[in-house]
Amino acid sequence: MTAQILDGRAVAAGILDDVKHDVGEFIKEYGRVPVLATVLVGDDPASHTYVRMKANRCRDVGMNSRRIELDASITTETLVNQIRELSEDPEVDGILLQHPVPDHIDERAAFEAIAPSKDVDGVTRTSFAMMAFDEGGFASATPGGIMALLDAYDIPLAGKHAVVVGRSPILGKPVGMLLLARDATVTYCHSRTADLAEQVARADVVVAAAGRPELIRGEWIKPGAVVVDAGYADNRGDVEFEAAAERASYITPVPGGVGPMTIATLLAQTIRAARAHETARQNSAIPARNQ
Ligand code: NAP
Repeated sequence: MTAQILDGRAVAAGILDDVKHDVGEFIKEYGRVPVLATVLVGDDPASHTYVRMKANRCRDVGMNSRRIELDASITTETLVNQIRELSEDPEVDGILLQHPVPDHIDERAAFEAIAPSKDVDGVTRTSFAMMAFDEGGFASATPGGIMALLDAYDIPLAGKHAVVVGRSPILGKPVGMLLLARDATVTYCHSRTADLAEQVARADVVVAAAGRPELIRGEWIKPGAVVVDAGYADNRGDVEFEAAAERASYITPVPGGVGPMTIATLLAQTIRAARAHETARQNSAIPARNQ
């Protein structure tokens, strides 16, 4: 293997140390503990694992997590109402709806029930638009984590050709936009792309986010390219790791690459949301002058 590993676990640990410090300061200043609410629908074992991991990291940094588990048979309306309650609950700082939800539920409607000020996973239209206009909203957590990982290794992006495989609203699309904002030239590939191998072969930076194990063959990778594998299906990534690592300059492992960065981004955004909520409360408590 010639590629250097993009060690998401190590970089995430550094971010979580900072979050832990910030949570301590927050508790001293405001006398309360920040709260992340997680909402899980159904009994998919992988989703249960992800939610448990997020709750564990919350505990590690001194935040509280409130876990809501709902039966797979619930309606969109019930889920939307449950999320609206959390949106209105002054004790809750951030809300995460574990994706994907069962097929019969309108996932978009459920995401949109999250108040933008609590959208620490960056899934609402408001967050997407703020990101697209570079107006400082909450980043979609996995794309935000991918960018933080690339930055931790000082990977240059300006003028580079980035190929994103996948175009989901929470991963492929936003990561392409964040790369574009950093002056990369971005190509999106998806299930209807006719020449995936040729597109990937032209990439200086490949972001694989298709959820198809080993879809990206090692032999497609341009020598020296940076390879980020966000995929996680059947316990495998989207990239044929060993073969790709022979050609890439940097590569993320699966697990231990993008996954820990996603959680670190989520928690960093939760403490940011908690601070913003306290600032908003203080501002609304100050009587306007000259009334
Ligand atoms: P998704 O909503 O299912 O989207 C998958 C995307 O991949 C779609 O845009 C699809 O194209 C494209 N695609 C599927 N098959 C393809 C093929 N053969 N060639 C090219 N493109 C193809 O999935 P997602 O939510 O974005 O997640 C993608 C992967 O990332 C999954 O493995 C998921 O587990 C993982 N993930 C990881 C994290 C993390 O923290 N590490 C977080 C979220 C997701 P169409 O649009 O044409 O259908």
